[in-house]
Amino acid sequence: MTKPDILMLNPMRPLVETALAPHVTLHRYWDAPDKDALLTAIGPRIRGIVAFVASVPRDLMERLPALEIVASAAVGYDGVDVKAAAERGVVVTNTPDVLTDEVADLALGLLLATVREIPRAEKHVRDGSWSKSHYPLTATLRGRKVGIVGLGRIGRAIAKRIEGFGVPVSYHGRRQQTDADYPYFASLIEMAKAVDVLIAVTPGGAETRHLIGKEVLEALGPNGIFVNVARGSVVDEQALIQALKNRTILAAGLDVFENEPHVPPELIALENTVLLPHVASASARTRDAMAQLAVDNLLAWLSGKPPLTPVPETPWPQQRPR
Ligand code: NDP
Repeated sequence: MTKPDILMLNPMRPLVETALAPHVTLHRYWDAPDKDALLTAIGPRIRGIVAFVASVPRDLMERLPALEIVASAAVGYDGVDVKAAAERGVVVTNTPDVLTDEVADLALGLLLATVREIPRAEKHVRDGSWSKSHYPLTATLRGRKVGIVGLGRIGRAIAKRIEGFGVPVSYHGRRQQTDADYPYFASLIEMAKAVDVLIAVTPGGAETRHLIGKEVLEALGPNGIFVNVARGSVVDEQALIQALKNRTILAAGLDVFENEPHVPPELIALENTVLLPHVASASARTRDAMAQLAVDNLLAWLSGKPPLTPVPETPWPQQRPR
Protein backbone atom coordinates (compact mmCIF):
# COMPACT_ATOMS: atom_id res chain seq x y z
CA MET A 1 0.00 0.00 0.00
CA THR A 2 1.32 3.47 -0.83
CA LYS A 3 1.96 5.71 2.10
CA PRO A 4 -0.03 8.97 2.37
CA ASP A 5 1.80 12.11 1.23
CA ILE A 6 2.27 14.71 3.94
CA LEU A 7 3.63 18.22 3.55
CA MET A 8 5.90 19.35 6.36
CA LEU A 9 5.95 23.14 6.20
CA ASN A 10 8.86 24.03 8.45
CA PRO A 11 11.57 22.37 10.57
CA MET A 12 10.20 20.61 13.65
CA ARG A 13 11.55 18.62 16.57
CA PRO A 14 13.44 15.50 15.37
CA LEU A 15 10.79 13.18 16.83
CA VAL A 16 8.34 14.29 14.15
CA GLU A 17 10.26 12.82 11.21
CA THR A 18 11.24 9.73 13.22
CA ALA A 19 7.65 9.00 14.26
CA LEU A 20 6.09 9.75 10.87
CA ALA A 21 8.65 8.11 8.56
CA PRO A 22 7.28 4.54 8.86
CA HIS A 23 3.73 5.69 8.06
CA VAL A 24 3.88 8.55 5.55
CA THR A 25 5.91 10.05 2.74
CA LEU A 26 7.11 13.42 4.06
CA HIS A 27 7.78 16.32 1.72
CA ARG A 28 9.94 19.04 3.24
CA TYR A 29 8.38 22.23 1.94
CA TRP A 30 10.88 24.71 3.42
CA ASP A 31 13.77 22.78 1.88
CA ALA A 32 12.38 22.83 -1.67
CA PRO A 33 14.42 25.13 -3.96
CA ASP A 34 11.27 25.77 -6.05
CA LYS A 35 8.19 25.63 -3.82
CA ASP A 36 5.81 26.34 -6.66
CA ALA A 37 7.21 23.41 -8.65
CA LEU A 38 6.95 21.18 -5.58
CA LEU A 39 3.28 22.07 -5.12
CA THR A 40 2.57 21.48 -8.81
CA ALA A 41 4.23 18.08 -8.65
CA ILE A 42 2.91 16.70 -5.37
CA GLY A 43 0.11 19.14 -4.33
CA PRO A 44 -2.74 16.97 -5.69
CA ARG A 45 -1.55 14.00 -3.57
CA ILE A 46 -1.06 15.80 -0.25
CA ARG A 47 -3.48 14.53 2.41
CA GLY A 48 -2.04 16.28 5.43
CA ILE A 49 0.07 19.21 6.59
CA VAL A 50 2.25 19.08 9.66
CA ALA A 51 4.01 22.19 10.94
CA PHE A 52 5.32 24.08 13.91
CA VAL A 53 2.93 27.04 14.31
CA ALA A 54 1.35 26.41 10.93
CA SER A 55 0.76 29.26 8.52
CA VAL A 56 -1.78 27.93 6.04
CA PRO A 57 -3.58 30.57 3.98
CA ARG A 58 -6.48 29.82 1.66
CA ASP A 59 -4.30 29.96 -1.46
CA LEU A 60 -2.05 27.18 -0.14
CA MET A 61 -5.11 25.00 0.55
CA GLU A 62 -6.29 25.64 -2.99
CA ARG A 63 -3.09 24.01 -4.25
CA LEU A 64 -3.87 20.91 -2.17
CA PRO A 65 -7.23 19.55 -3.35
CA ALA A 66 -6.87 16.24 -1.43
CA LEU A 67 -5.98 17.96 1.86
CA GLU A 68 -7.79 16.46 4.87
CA ILE A 69 -5.90 17.66 7.93
CA VAL A 70 -3.62 20.44 9.14
CA ALA A 71 -1.78 19.31 12.28
CA SER A 72 -0.12 22.33 13.85
CA ALA A 73 2.27 22.04 16.79
CA ALA A 74 1.04 25.15 18.61
CA VAL A 75 -2.06 26.14 20.55
CA GLY A 76 -2.55 29.41 18.66
CA TYR A 77 -3.74 28.86 15.10
CA ASP A 78 -4.26 32.42 13.89
CA GLY A 79 -1.95 31.61 10.95
CA VAL A 80 -4.35 28.97 9.61
CA ASP A 81 -7.36 30.12 7.59
CA VAL A 82 -9.82 27.98 9.57
CA LYS A 83 -12.80 29.35 7.63
CA ALA A 84 -11.28 28.12 4.37
CA ALA A 85 -10.43 24.81 6.06
CA ALA A 86 -13.99 24.32 7.35
CA GLU A 87 -15.42 25.12 3.90
CA ARG A 88 -13.24 22.41 2.37
CA GLY A 89 -13.91 19.83 5.08
CA VAL A 90 -10.30 20.05 6.28
CA VAL A 91 -9.80 19.42 9.99
CA VAL A 92 -7.32 21.65 11.84
CA THR A 93 -5.70 20.43 15.02
CA ASN A 94 -3.66 22.38 17.56
CA THR A 95 -1.84 21.43 20.77
CA PRO A 96 -3.77 22.71 23.80
CA ASP A 97 -2.87 21.90 27.43
CA VAL A 98 0.60 20.41 26.84
CA LEU A 99 2.18 23.90 26.91
CA THR A 100 -0.12 25.61 29.40
CA ASP A 101 2.12 25.43 32.49
CA GLU A 102 5.28 26.28 30.53
CA VAL A 103 3.74 29.43 29.08
CA ALA A 104 2.25 30.44 32.44
CA ASP A 105 5.66 29.99 34.13
CA LEU A 106 7.28 32.23 31.53
CA ALA A 107 4.54 34.85 31.87
CA LEU A 108 5.28 35.10 35.60
CA GLY A 109 9.02 35.27 34.89
CA LEU A 110 8.44 38.05 32.40
CA LEU A 111 6.21 39.93 34.82
CA LEU A 112 8.80 39.79 37.61
CA ALA A 113 11.63 40.62 35.22
CA THR A 114 9.70 43.70 34.10
CA VAL A 115 8.57 44.97 37.51
CA ARG A 116 11.87 44.33 39.29
CA GLU A 117 14.06 45.14 36.23
CA ILE A 118 15.89 41.82 36.51
CA PRO A 119 17.70 41.98 33.11
CA ARG A 120 19.01 45.50 33.80
CA ALA A 121 20.01 44.59 37.36
CA GLU A 122 21.91 41.59 36.03
CA LYS A 123 23.66 43.79 33.47
CA HIS A 124 24.69 46.05 36.36
CA VAL A 125 26.68 43.13 37.79
CA ARG A 126 28.11 41.93 34.48
CA ASP A 127 29.35 45.31 33.26
CA GLY A 128 31.11 46.09 36.55
CA SER A 129 28.75 48.93 37.55
CA TRP A 130 28.03 47.42 40.98
CA SER A 131 31.46 48.38 42.35
CA LYS A 132 30.66 52.00 41.45
CA SER A 133 27.02 52.26 42.53
CA HIS A 134 24.12 50.32 43.98
CA TYR A 135 21.42 49.41 41.51
CA PRO A 136 18.52 51.91 41.82
CA LEU A 137 15.39 50.86 43.71
CA THR A 138 12.66 49.42 41.49
CA ALA A 139 8.88 49.17 41.34
CA THR A 140 7.24 46.20 43.07
CA LEU A 141 4.63 43.51 42.58
CA ARG A 142 3.53 44.09 46.18
CA GLY A 143 0.23 45.92 46.43
CA ARG A 144 -0.57 45.48 42.76
CA LYS A 145 -3.74 44.19 41.12
CA VAL A 146 -3.50 42.01 38.02
CA GLY A 147 -5.98 41.92 35.14
CA ILE A 148 -5.83 38.97 32.77
CA VAL A 149 -7.07 39.53 29.23
CA GLY A 150 -8.24 36.05 28.18
CA LEU A 151 -8.90 33.69 31.10
CA GLY A 152 -8.51 30.48 29.07
CA ARG A 153 -6.28 27.50 29.79
CA ILE A 154 -3.12 29.58 30.03
CA GLY A 155 -4.86 32.59 31.58
CA ARG A 156 -6.14 30.40 34.40
CA ALA A 157 -2.71 28.88 34.97
CA ILE A 158 -1.28 32.41 35.18
CA ALA A 159 -4.05 33.44 37.60
CA LYS A 160 -3.28 30.46 39.85
CA ARG A 161 0.37 31.44 39.99
CA ILE A 162 -0.45 35.11 40.66
CA GLU A 163 -2.67 34.02 43.56
CA GLY A 164 0.38 32.24 44.97
CA PHE A 165 2.15 35.60 44.97
CA GLY A 166 -0.65 37.02 47.15
CA VAL A 167 -1.84 39.47 44.51
CA PRO A 168 -5.53 39.81 43.48
CA VAL A 169 -6.61 38.81 39.96
CA SER A 170 -9.49 39.90 37.76
CA TYR A 171 -10.18 39.11 34.12
CA HIS A 172 -11.70 40.28 30.89
CA GLY A 173 -13.05 38.11 28.08
CA ARG A 174 -16.05 38.03 25.81
CA ARG A 175 -18.12 36.38 28.51
CA GLN A 176 -18.15 35.77 32.25
CA GLN A 177 -17.04 32.27 33.23
CA THR A 178 -19.36 30.64 35.75
CA ASP A 179 -16.61 28.43 37.19
CA ALA A 180 -14.12 31.27 37.81
CA ASP A 181 -14.27 33.18 41.10
CA TYR A 182 -12.17 36.14 39.97
CA PRO A 183 -13.95 39.47 39.39
CA TYR A 184 -15.06 39.76 35.75
CA PHE A 185 -14.96 42.94 33.67
CA ALA A 186 -17.06 43.00 30.51
CA SER A 187 -15.21 46.22 29.60
CA LEU A 188 -11.45 45.99 29.06
CA ILE A 189 -11.06 49.73 29.67
CA GLU A 190 -12.84 49.46 33.02
CA MET A 191 -10.56 46.58 34.01
CA ALA A 192 -7.48 48.52 32.92
CA LYS A 193 -8.61 51.41 35.18
CA ALA A 194 -9.08 49.03 38.11
CA VAL A 195 -5.70 47.22 37.89
CA ASP A 196 -2.03 48.15 37.47
CA VAL A 197 -0.84 45.00 35.67
CA LEU A 198 -2.40 43.82 32.43
CA ILE A 199 -1.45 40.41 31.04
CA ALA A 200 -2.63 39.57 27.52
CA VAL A 201 -3.11 35.87 26.75
CA THR A 202 -5.85 35.73 24.12
CA PRO A 203 -5.67 34.15 20.66
CA GLY A 204 -4.38 36.35 17.83
CA GLY A 205 -6.25 36.99 14.58
CA ALA A 206 -8.73 39.55 13.30
CA GLU A 207 -11.03 39.46 16.30
CA THR A 208 -8.40 40.48 18.84
CA ARG A 209 -6.36 42.76 16.56
CA HIS A 210 -5.29 45.88 18.48
CA LEU A 211 -7.58 44.95 21.39
CA ILE A 212 -5.06 46.83 23.51
CA GLY A 213 -4.52 50.30 22.14
CA LYS A 214 -4.00 53.90 23.27
CA GLU A 215 -7.17 54.11 25.38
CA VAL A 216 -6.55 50.88 27.28
CA LEU A 217 -2.94 51.90 27.97
CA GLU A 218 -4.08 55.32 29.22
CA ALA A 219 -6.59 53.58 31.48
CA LEU A 220 -3.82 51.33 32.84
CA GLY A 221 -1.98 54.48 33.91
CA PRO A 222 1.51 55.66 34.85
CA ASN A 223 2.16 52.87 37.36
CA GLY A 224 0.91 50.26 34.86
CA ILE A 225 2.79 47.19 33.68
CA PHE A 226 1.77 45.51 30.44
CA VAL A 227 2.78 41.90 29.71
CA ASN A 228 2.06 40.27 26.37
CA VAL A 229 2.39 36.49 25.92
CA ALA A 230 -0.55 36.32 23.47
CA ARG A 231 0.26 37.50 19.95
CA GLY A 232 1.87 40.73 18.77
CA SER A 233 -1.28 41.62 16.84
CA VAL A 234 -3.27 41.91 20.08
CA VAL A 235 -1.59 45.23 20.91
CA ASP A 236 -1.24 48.35 18.78
CA GLU A 237 2.57 48.39 18.83
CA GLN A 238 2.90 52.05 17.84
CA ALA A 239 0.49 53.08 20.61
CA LEU A 240 2.47 50.93 23.04
CA ILE A 241 5.76 52.55 22.01
CA GLN A 242 4.27 56.01 22.56
CA ALA A 243 2.80 54.97 25.93
CA LEU A 244 6.20 53.65 27.06
CA LYS A 245 8.05 56.73 25.78
CA ASN A 246 5.64 59.18 27.40
CA ARG A 247 5.41 57.14 30.60
CA THR A 248 1.67 56.79 30.05
CA ILE A 249 2.47 53.33 31.48
CA LEU A 250 5.50 52.33 33.54
CA ALA A 251 6.90 49.34 31.65
CA ALA A 252 6.15 46.41 29.35
CA GLY A 253 7.31 42.79 29.15
CA LEU A 254 6.83 41.40 25.66
CA ASP A 255 7.30 37.87 24.34
CA VAL A 256 5.52 38.58 21.05
CA PHE A 257 5.59 41.32 18.42
CA GLU A 258 3.47 42.47 15.49
CA ASN A 259 6.04 41.67 12.81
CA GLU A 260 8.27 38.91 14.22
CA PRO A 261 11.20 38.51 14.17
CA HIS A 262 11.36 42.25 13.50
CA VAL A 263 11.26 44.16 16.77
CA PRO A 264 10.86 47.93 16.38
CA PRO A 265 14.15 49.70 17.26
CA GLU A 266 12.16 52.08 19.49
CA LEU A 267 11.18 49.15 21.74
CA ILE A 268 14.79 47.97 21.87
CA ALA A 269 16.02 51.47 22.73
CA LEU A 270 13.57 51.92 25.60
CA GLU A 271 14.82 51.10 29.09
CA ASN A 272 11.35 50.29 30.43
CA THR A 273 10.89 47.16 28.30
CA VAL A 274 11.86 43.52 28.73
CA LEU A 275 11.88 41.81 25.34
CA LEU A 276 11.88 38.07 24.62
CA PRO A 277 12.03 36.28 21.23
CA HIS A 278 8.65 34.46 21.44
CA VAL A 279 9.91 31.77 23.81
CA ALA A 280 6.99 31.21 26.19
CA SER A 281 6.64 27.52 25.23
CA ALA A 282 10.25 27.11 24.13
CA SER A 283 11.70 24.44 26.39
CA ALA A 284 12.88 21.22 24.72
CA ARG A 285 10.47 19.17 26.84
CA THR A 286 7.39 21.24 26.01
CA ARG A 287 8.25 21.64 22.34
CA ASP A 288 8.59 17.81 22.20
CA ALA A 289 5.17 17.42 23.82
CA MET A 290 3.66 19.82 21.27
CA ALA A 291 5.36 18.01 18.36
CA GLN A 292 4.20 14.63 19.69
CA LEU A 293 0.59 15.80 19.92
CA ALA A 294 0.71 17.06 16.33
CA VAL A 295 2.07 13.65 15.24
CA ASP A 296 -0.60 11.84 17.27
CA ASN A 297 -3.35 13.93 15.66
CA LEU A 298 -2.03 13.20 12.17
CA LEU A 299 -1.56 9.48 12.72
CA ALA A 300 -4.97 9.09 14.41
CA TRP A 301 -6.62 10.77 11.44
CA LEU A 302 -4.73 8.75 8.83
CA SER A 303 -5.74 5.50 10.56
CA GLY A 304 -9.41 6.51 10.37
CA LYS A 305 -9.78 7.60 14.00
CA PRO A 306 -11.09 10.96 15.21
CA PRO A 307 -8.54 13.77 15.59
CA LEU A 308 -7.46 14.17 19.21
CA THR A 309 -7.57 17.95 19.47
CA PRO A 310 -9.49 19.60 16.62
CA VAL A 311 -9.99 23.37 16.90
CA PRO A 312 -13.58 24.55 17.52
CA GLU A 313 -13.92 25.97 13.99
CA THR A 314 -13.40 22.51 12.42
CA PRO A 315 -15.04 20.25 15.01
CA TRP A 316 -15.24 16.50 14.87
CA PRO A 317 -17.45 14.81 13.60
CA GLN A 318 -18.39 17.44 10.98
CA GLN A 319 -14.99 16.92 9.34
CA ARG A 320 -14.60 13.28 8.25
CA PRO A 321 -11.75 11.31 6.71
CA ARG A 322 -12.24 10.86 3.00
P1 NDP B 1 -7.86 29.32 25.27
O1 NDP B 1 -8.70 29.20 24.05
O2 NDP B 1 -8.02 28.33 26.37
O3 NDP B 1 -8.07 30.78 25.91
C1 NDP B 1 -8.24 31.93 25.16
C2 NDP B 1 -8.96 32.97 26.01
O4 NDP B 1 -9.05 34.18 25.28
C3 NDP B 1 -10.37 32.55 26.38
O5 NDP B 1 -10.53 32.71 27.76
C4 NDP B 1 -11.27 33.54 25.64
O6 NDP B 1 -12.35 33.87 26.48
C5 NDP B 1 -10.35 34.74 25.43
N1 NDP B 1 -10.71 35.48 24.23
C6 NDP B 1 -10.87 34.99 22.98
N2 NDP B 1 -11.22 35.98 22.14
C7 NDP B 1 -11.28 37.11 22.89
C8 NDP B 1 -11.60 38.46 22.59
N3 NDP B 1 -11.95 38.84 21.36
N4 NDP B 1 -11.56 39.36 23.61
C9 NDP B 1 -11.23 38.98 24.85
N5 NDP B 1 -10.92 37.71 25.19
C10 NDP B 1 -10.95 36.79 24.22
O7 NDP B 1 -6.36 29.34 24.75
P2 NDP B 1 -5.00 29.11 25.56
O8 NDP B 1 -5.14 29.72 26.92
O9 NDP B 1 -4.58 27.70 25.44
O10 NDP B 1 -4.01 30.00 24.66
C11 NDP B 1 -4.26 31.38 24.54
C12 NDP B 1 -3.34 32.04 23.54
O11 NDP B 1 -2.04 32.20 24.09
C13 NDP B 1 -3.07 31.30 22.23
O12 NDP B 1 -4.16 31.40 21.33
C14 NDP B 1 -1.85 32.04 21.73
O13 NDP B 1 -2.23 33.21 21.04
C15 NDP B 1 -1.14 32.44 23.03
N6 NDP B 1 0.07 31.62 23.23
C16 NDP B 1 1.30 32.23 23.14
C17 NDP B 1 2.44 31.52 23.33
C18 NDP B 1 3.77 32.18 23.25
O14 NDP B 1 4.74 31.52 22.91
N7 NDP B 1 3.88 33.45 23.61
C19 NDP B 1 2.42 30.08 23.60
C20 NDP B 1 1.08 29.54 23.70
C21 NDP B 1 -0.03 30.30 23.52
P3 NDP B 1 -13.81 34.19 25.89
O15 NDP B 1 -14.13 33.09 24.90
O16 NDP B 1 -14.69 34.24 27.09
O17 NDP B 1 -13.67 35.53 25.24
